[in-house]
Amino acid sequence: MKWKRALSILAIGVTLTSCHKTADPALEKKCHDQLGKVGVYLALYEAKYHGYPTELGGIEKPDMCTDMSICHCPFAPAGEKYAYRGEKAGAGPGYDFIVAYDATPHPDGCRHVVDVKSRVRKVTEAEFQKALEAK
Ligand SMILES: [Zn+2]
Repeated sequence: MKWKRALSILAIGVTLTSCHKTADPALEKKCHDQLGKVGVYLALYEAKYHGYPTELGGIEKPDMCTDMSICHCPFAPAGEKYAYRGEKAGAGPGYDFIVAYDATPHPDGCRHVVDVKSRVRKVTEAEFQKALEAK
């Protein structure tokens, strides 16, 4: 009986710390790819204007993002855009600084985040909180 309990505790631990399982891989990929594009547009904006826009909508320009639907996670409630904190990235952001992320976690409890180098990764809630603290 003891080993069964140990196994169930281990299973719960794996579930809480892993974002590899997903109910809908196509939507997960869509979110990942969209947030990657958002990251690229933010980097283009930063390069052109030497700073990040004050809000995510700032990337909407004829020579940048012309399809703002990419700012909406397929899992998010209607109308909710990716959360944005690029305005805080002005004062010398670190290499891993998270500029945008899923405002609402996915059904599996994990979120996609994109950093100032346009790198997207999926993180657990604990990893997410830690990532936001990173400078
Ligand atoms: Zn998402």
